Amino acid sequence: MFITVKELELQDLGFSVALKPGEIEFFDRLRQRGDLVAQGVAELRSDVLEEIRVHGHLHVPMESDCDRCLEPAAFEVDGDFDFCYRPARFARPSKDEVELGEGESEIAFYEGSGLELNDVLREYVLLSVPMRKLCRPDCKGICPVCGQNRNAITCGCQEKPADDRWAALKRI
Ligand SMILES: [Zn+2]
Ligand SMILES: [Zn+2]
Repeated sequence: MFITVKELELQDLGFSVALKPGEIEFFDRLRQRGDLVAQGVAELRSDVLEEIRVHGHLHVPMESDCDRCLEPAAFEVDGDFDFCYRPARFARPSKDEVELGEGESEIAFYEGSGLELNDVLREYVLLSVPMRKLCRPDCKGICPVCGQNRNAITCGCQEKPADDRWAALKRI
């Protein structure tokens, strides 16, 4: 759905979408597991600045690679989003010239007559990816000795003591 300033000048634009996996492109390591459901409103926050505010609620089951074993790690994005976009012509001429002031990083920009709702939703999902992505809380990871998935098998390899301690000894 494309949101135009022209439309918003007339009225706020409510939306309610259910997007199948593939309708929004994520990275290879980030996959959508089910429908992305979002409801919300797009509105003009300022007629003069043509600043578009898009806010609402989004829910989507996602999947990434487990940080420890690289098997699929499922997680959900479920939360409220609230973004503001200004026309690109109001963007600073060069990022090098002026440093961003506090809070200004929150403002994004759109080109032309408006912005694509899917881009807004994608942005929120990307911002919501958890720092730690684990297939399960107690994932044992990959054995550093034999390279096998320790959730699946007990390889019984003897792990060397922590490397840094040995490094410290060797330096003496
Ligand atoms: Zn894992
Ligand atoms: Zn092993």
